[in-house]
Amino acid sequence: MLSKCVLFSAMILIGGIGLPADSLKSASGAPQAASKDQEASGHEDLDALLWLQTSAEFIAITRQTFRLAEMNLGSALVDPTWSACLEQQRMFAKQPGAMAALPPAVILDVDETVLDNSAYQARLIANGEEFDPKTWNLFVQEESGIAVPGAVDFIEACRAARVTVLYVTNREYEVEYATRRNLVKTGLLQENDPDVLLTKNERKQWTSDKKSRRTHLASQYRILMILGDDLNDFVSLGKKPTPEKRRKTATRYSDRWGRQWMALPNPNYGGWERSLYQWEDRAAREAKLKLKRSNLRD
Ligand SMILES: [Mg+2]
Repeated sequence: MLSKCVLFSAMILIGGIGLPADSLKSASGAPQAASKDQEASGHEDLDALLWLQTSAEFIAITRQTFRLAEMNLGSALVDPTWSACLEQQRMFAKQPGAMAALPPAVILDVDETVLDNSAYQARLIANGEEFDPKTWNLFVQEESGIAVPGAVDFIEACRAARVTVLYVTNREYEVEYATRRNLVKTGLLQENDPDVLLTKNERKQWTSDKKSRRTHLASQYRILMILGDDLNDFVSLGKKPTPEKRRKTATRYSDRWGRQWMALPNPNYGGWERSLYQWEDRAAREAKLKLKRSNLRD
């Protein structure tokens, strides 16, 4: 999960008085419940999170995405030139036969692609906290993520078609074991599956840009499909891409969507949001909001 630092900045206003975020914590360090003033003032993430957690439409969209992915498996398997991975197509440009001989696989992101971790987001809103890698990793160790609707059906379809399921996540290597257990609990992985989970910093070159991990996998499998909730799951965008660059990239690869690339909805966080505030995760909340509002089109 990428940093979501918009909930409250280092200084927040409570009843017109600026208080450091730490003052929200009890002596034990546990977050206190949000004050009535905070609840009344609302939060910029509230609607997005409620949509994801409560709407029928979220279920409809995720199920239709996974169903379409399943329907495309057959076409992908029988077409030896089919690859969802840009790095793979470059790698095997002069030896297509070698690519065709590789065993088939799909690459899936984890957070907000197959695992719904919106409970963490809900806690941040309820407690007036902001994203913190420490609380995030503690949450991950609860192994409480639930399967995104349609994900388990798709994984089972892959298994039935003898297509290997690979997970490429920006969760840290230190929580790989907990992540694996969560995936097993939800039916997204089987207990005796080999290590198909590639975490960030598991190897030195495996950075948050997933390109190096896609390249690593592309030498071993023919990648039929990629599924994710962030453009970075599909294509390398370089450092700090602008919203315009992100949109142009999505448009440039128009023929991939719905065939080899399947996007899941995440209105809560991701590169789309960070690019709006120029990737300044540590900026004050007000500064981020100002930058976000400057992107509105009327
Ligand atoms: Mg994700």
